[in-house]
Amino acid sequence: MMKMVCSICLSPVREEATVLRCGHGFHATCILTWLRYRITCPLCRRPVAVVPDLAASRQIALDAFGLMIVLIVCLNMYIILLLYLCWVLERRAVSVRYVLNDEQQWILLEKIR
Ligand SMILES: [Zn+2]
Ligand SMILES: [Zn+2]
Repeated sequence: MMKMVCSICLSPVREEATVLRCGHGFHATCILTWLRYRITCPLCRRPVAVVPDLAASRQIALDAFGLMIVLIVCLNMYIILLLYLCWVLERRAVSVRYVLNDEQQWILLEKIR
């Protein structure tokens, strides 16, 4: 690999270089900081089609985190729905226990026992 100078911090880049598609190399930390603000090469301004692995994995981690939040919210709503269903079924079960007595009055079956 030819000797490169990171144009962001102006110090030599050795084997830790992150090379963009256009062939320009930078320190991984330098280019990641840069790519947070713009997705073009700092030297030639060509768009960076392939984001370095670290940035990509961070994006995926962020997406996974968002998905987890959505899942938790959905799960909570599901539990609330389930509790509501239980409540409705409980009420229905109680209302079934009403029966007519000899005086033609609706009374609770539980009171007859
Ligand atoms: Zn640098
Ligand atoms: Zn470039």
